[in-house]
Amino acid sequence: MLFNPGIETLAIDKLRRLQSERLVSQVEYLFKHVPFYRNNLEMAGIRPGSIASIEDIHLLPFTKKNDLRDNYPFGLLAVPQNEIARIHCSSGTTGKPTVVGYTKEDLEIFSEVVARSLAAAGCKPGMILQNAYGYGLFTGGLGLHYGAERLGMTVIPLSGGMTERQIMLMRDFGSDAICCTPSYALTIAHELLKKGIDPKSLKLKYAVLGAEPWTESIRTEVETGLHVSATNIYGLSEIIGPGVSQEDHEEKSSGSYIWEDHFFPEIVDKDNGEPLAEGKTGVLVFTTLTKKAMPLLRYWTNDITNIYYDKSGKRTHVKMGQIIGRSDDMLIIRGVNPFHTQVETLLNDFPELSAHYLLVVTREASMDEVEVKVELEARVCRELELDHAADTVLTNERINIVYRSLQKKIKDHIGLTMKLSFMLPGTIPRSEGGKQSRISDLRKK
Ligand code: ADP
Repeated sequence: MLFNPGIETLAIDKLRRLQSERLVSQVEYLFKHVPFYRNNLEMAGIRPGSIASIEDIHLLPFTKKNDLRDNYPFGLLAVPQNEIARIHCSSGTTGKPTVVGYTKEDLEIFSEVVARSLAAAGCKPGMILQNAYGYGLFTGGLGLHYGAERLGMTVIPLSGGMTERQIMLMRDFGSDAICCTPSYALTIAHELLKKGIDPKSLKLKYAVLGAEPWTESIRTEVETGLHVSATNIYGLSEIIGPGVSQEDHEEKSSGSYIWEDHFFPEIVDKDNGEPLAEGKTGVLVFTTLTKKAMPLLRYWTNDITNIYYDKSGKRTHVKMGQIIGRSDDMLIIRGVNPFHTQVETLLNDFPELSAHYLLVVTREASMDEVEVKVELEARVCRELELDHAADTVLTNERINIVYRSLQKKIKDHIGLTMKLSFMLPGTIPRSEGGKQSRISDLRKK
């Protein structure tokens, strides 16, 4: 179902015209209302009239996370405080949180894009959504909440955590859909398995997963473990929150539609900021086209992905691929840039290994080392009777073969030799609804 078919299928030339009009007025608006932008634009030699259409977007300077931090907390607001209806913060994955504000109109847009996203995920008015994103300063909880109400769903505002309770209410209330992080969806799936509850006995049909990178193997595991169709929702608080882009449940694995009538995307080179052609991988940059409280021009998300137009899709808007990592948490190990998602993809080839892993980076005598800690699959541990100490599992021949071939694959594909530690199930800390951390960089400590 399309929530707003008129916009979601708007012909590209009309979409460009709409974007152009909106960009021109967004630049004028910022020039008038935000001293930071007036200075920055003047320094770049740009007057309001210099920007005539969306094609001119590359003339604008980038906005970076540090600009938000330097203007902490309210320096980038374009409206007086009494016109701010709500404040959120980013989750602070990479340092001090950044503050964002919304006017009433911004909140309307937020609800609209989340409603579009939920509809693309398969949700319909009248369905019950169990919202297991954290409520509070994080945009996930309230963002999904109001978007679901906008679509006409019944919302259960459970927030993250309390897995037993999630399962009880999921069964008792007959939730049709759940939204949460992919890692938390796995936690719920494992709990169901532990309790011997058949996921097919649940009414659950859809899972809308985001806030952290995830891969096709996690999708398969969630889809089997919860008996749902799982789709990706992406967003960041600086731009609006979740619902910047969303995958369609009938076009899975082909990317997530970016609602580009509100958020104009570009992919640029991570080193020199030059715009890259369709399909090329680089840093995702967004310009908000309609925001009132805190519009951002060419915001450097640090997320690494690509964008492309899918001619066979239901909608005209551009699609983005999976986020393969963030340029600010990109590791540089002996001259190589491995992303944790690359390791994750290789782990998927081994049925003996689960989706729970952590990369631990250390420095020994000025040499950087990466250790991949990954849990063995519980089923395999039972089969092979590997319930003893993790450091003895390598004496098992099958596990030993996995060890050697995984190490070789990592070397062949990523170019680094990594130490591997096979862990017993349940020994790597889980996120209770928040973002799962995949890298522990002990070099900084
Ligand atoms: P923070 O930057 O503090 O984590 P947010 O809570 O706003 O702030 O999180 C936004 C970030 O979360 C994005 O920039 C991206 O890195 C990550 N993210 C959100 N949704 C997804 C998704 N579906 N896939 C991968 N990463 C995601």
